Amino acid sequence: MSMDRDLTDFLWLRVTEDHETAQRPTDAPWAKPTWALRRDDDDDAYVDLGTQHLDRESSLNEDELTHIARHDPTRAFAEVELLKWLLAEHELRADGDGGYVCAVDGEDCGTLRRMAALYADHEEYRQEWRP
Ligand SMILES: [Zn+2]
Repeated sequence: MSMDRDLTDFLWLRVTEDHETAQRPTDAPWAKPTWALRRDDDDDAYVDLGTQHLDRESSLNEDELTHIARHDPTRAFAEVELLKWLLAEHELRADGDGGYVCAVDGEDCGTLRRMAALYADHEEYRQEWRP
């Protein structure tokens, strides 16, 4: 058994998309990548997006607002860096037999499979990649 280069290609594309998706809301010069959960004078929670606030007027409850603030672009950029580091660590190398093996784990890399599972809902995700 060897590893599939399509798996790492798939991962690089998804990580690049994650980076672009996190970058777009921060492209405006006035925007910022860190979104904080704050409270107004009535003690109602809102997410401070920089120039705009996401609050209960948007029909989101406090748990949803908290989740959005925790998964802001700053966190997404950090996760992208982690995934890129893992991809580099678990780079596939030719096995000399026409296939590929992970530089760390050899013929079957659970790290790459688990990383790909983050994107299991993507149309190009393959069931044979499941950990
Ligand atoms: Zn590996």
